[in-house]
Amino acid sequence: MIGLHPTSVGEDVNEQLKVLEKALTNTKFYAIGEIGIDLYWDKTFIDAQISAFRTQLDWAKHLNLPVVIHTREAFPLILDLVKEAQDGSLTGVFHCFTGSESDAERIMDMNFMMGIGGVVTYKKSYLPEVLQHVPLDFMVLETDSPYLPPVPHRGKRNESSYMTETALKLAEIKGVSMEEIAMMTTRNAQKLFKISSL
Ligand SMILES: [Zn+2]
Repeated sequence: MIGLHPTSVGEDVNEQLKVLEKALTNTKFYAIGEIGIDLYWDKTFIDAQISAFRTQLDWAKHLNLPVVIHTREAFPLILDLVKEAQDGSLTGVFHCFTGSESDAERIMDMNFMMGIGGVVTYKKSYLPEVLQHVPLDFMVLETDSPYLPPVPHRGKRNESSYMTETALKLAEIKGVSMEEIAMMTTRNAQKLFKISSL
């Protein structure tokens, strides 16, 4: 995928977007991302972050591509922006979802998915409680590698093979087998990114 990450939005945002727009016409991509709003590191370019996000949501609609959304300290702003752009054709995932139950409800109302990563295995995480109320149809698994490794690998560099720990935890939360989690989340990912089964 390709996208202008919110923490990379700078004064030359229009130039940055032009480079990406050109790349999108030249190469096959499966998604536009990570795009979104990040107010944790820096709020200086909040207006530019918003306009870059809107522009890239438009591209996604025109190109019929899903979006992968990165958001930090920006709920509910990000939900309002996606809602504003949602004409029924937009699809995507809120990556590394760590929101509340009402955030999850708004995401499902917009027919978006939630990316579940290592955070769900963390002792202090509220995510297990929230995910009890979210049907598996709205979840895909992710690593966010090299960040956010699941328990018992915390402190190490995250990698794809650790995803079994995340799947195991999710199986426990939903009261189903790990195979069921693997099957459902694989199916969801294939549908979202329009990739046929191997
Ligand atoms: Zn991210």
